[in-house]
Amino acid sequence: MSHSEHHIERNSLSYGIEKNVEVLAQKCYQCGKCSAGCPVADQMDFPPSMVMRLLQTEIPANDEKILRSNSIWLCVTCEMCLSRCPMEIDIPSMMDYLRQKSRSEKKVNKQAKNIIAFHKSFLNSIRWTGRLFELGLILDYKRQSLNLTQDVTLAPKMITRGKLHLFPNMVKDMGHLARIFRKTSNSSK
Ligand code: SF4
Ligand code: SF4
Repeated sequence: MSHSEHHIERNSLSYGIEKNVEVLAQKCYQCGKCSAGCPVADQMDFPPSMVMRLLQTEIPANDEKILRSNSIWLCVTCEMCLSRCPMEIDIPSMMDYLRQKSRSEKKVNKQAKNIIAFHKSFLNSIRWTGRLFELGLILDYKRQSLNLTQDVTLAPKMITRGKLHLFPNMVKDMGHLARIFRKTSNSSK
């Protein structure tokens, strides 16, 4: 069956995704390139290609798994998956939609609180200091925040006090990083 002929189950998450962000889950043929390139895939309950697979089933139980997963909150909108996907599937936009949906249905993963708090405090800190840091630092911190017991707002303070390793060189593509920050910031409000 061609993709255009596929009838999407009206109550499914796939249907909402197609209507709202024009991403067709059925286009994914499970090559796995998105997951291989995703910097946070190893921390996710389901890496991006697996999220696509679950969506394709259009089964309520699988939709539920996605909305309750930490995957959608860990996504940093880096667009690595999108740039690698042979089908140009816009996973970052889809993740954004899934976060909204998860919130509105009150299915937010318990780890998300830390991740969201981190987004807010870290991004505010960057605005406050006027400095931009290597994306890797954010990713490292995000990984740690999954097992976090202390207050996440400590991290920006540690950074401003210079206690975390700061990369001497600014990222080369400042425009790209700024875009990531903007998107991450928007999606964590
Ligand atoms: S945009 Fe999200 S899902 Fe895609 S590679 Fe980046 S972190 Fe992973
Ligand atoms: S890269 Fe694209 S086609 Fe390949 S698994 Fe990921 S979403 Fe599917």
